[in-house]
Amino acid sequence: MTEILRVSNLTKIFTIGSIFSRTKIVAVNNVSFGVNRAEVFTLAGESGCGKTTIAKILLGFEHPTEGIIEYNGRRIDNIKPKERFKLRKEIQTIFQNPFSTFNPLRKVDRYFFEALRNFEITEQESDVVRIIKEKLDAVGVAYEEFCEKYPGEFSGGQLQRISIARALLTNPTLIIADEPVSMVDASLRMSIVNLFKDLRDKFGVSVLYITHDLATAYYVSDRMAVMFRGEIVELGRADKVLQEPKHPYTRLLRESVPEPDPSKRWTSKVVLAEQEHEEYLRTGCKFAGRCPTAMEICKRESPDYYEVDGVKVRCFLYK
Ligand code: SF4
Repeated sequence: MTEILRVSNLTKIFTIGSIFSRTKIVAVNNVSFGVNRAEVFTLAGESGCGKTTIAKILLGFEHPTEGIIEYNGRRIDNIKPKERFKLRKEIQTIFQNPFSTFNPLRKVDRYFFEALRNFEITEQESDVVRIIKEKLDAVGVAYEEFCEKYPGEFSGGQLQRISIARALLTNPTLIIADEPVSMVDASLRMSIVNLFKDLRDKFGVSVLYITHDLATAYYVSDRMAVMFRGEIVELGRADKVLQEPKHPYTRLLRESVPEPDPSKRWTSKVVLAEQEHEEYLRTGCKFAGRCPTAMEICKRESPDYYEVDGVKVRCFLYK
């Protein structure tokens, strides 16, 4: 499989506090992963795990402290703004809140005309409506329902579909979707993430899906990485990672997803705690403070990755 995106040893350090008491937080610590062509790859984890910082770095909103990002074999973490603009044609983004993507006082179709013009998709007036109809059709929205309307006239689910259609205008090869369904009604979430599968299958688009929602991640992902406090703790095929989680943190996350079949529910109880700051600063395994299987070594040393059943796991249990 060919990789479209490669992230190697990515690290981002933030300094917080005043001039007298500065603390360095390693928000992303030596993270490496790749996204293949026509693949849905998910970065999953609680808020504060570093996944959104990675998205910001990929989009050029933050600079990495260390590490390399390559798109189609070409390094993109150090490119100039003009080159980044060109890259936006190939790498499109879907954000969390569709209502903040569009100005409430501007008709939504204007964004589509603008994108076609800015990215020089077509110079033919006659092609404009055809292309817009085609993209709306791919996300299940009728052109007639969309034309001449303001964002407030759509539901959250409809508007997110429309923002996906807008992303498709440039025929991207990679879509970065950062929590795209977290503000959408629960009943509509699956139908929206299903679009990512359609884009993969019909148009060969790769999707980097960033989410805290394991149910949609399981449904849509080919492979996934689970993040905890800036580090990938488990990476592999999504069915393996979620059906047979190996890292104690993945098990904890998996446990927090309601299981319809009572016989399949996990039984051990670990409470999700808000210990973010302490955990980021911890030497050794960052999960050691709340891991039910922590050992002495876990408090002193940071584990490496071990390959278990085709899945990479960062945990001393598999040494
Ligand atoms: Fe738990 Fe140790 Fe594995 Fe960390 S390395 S997850 S503390 S067993």
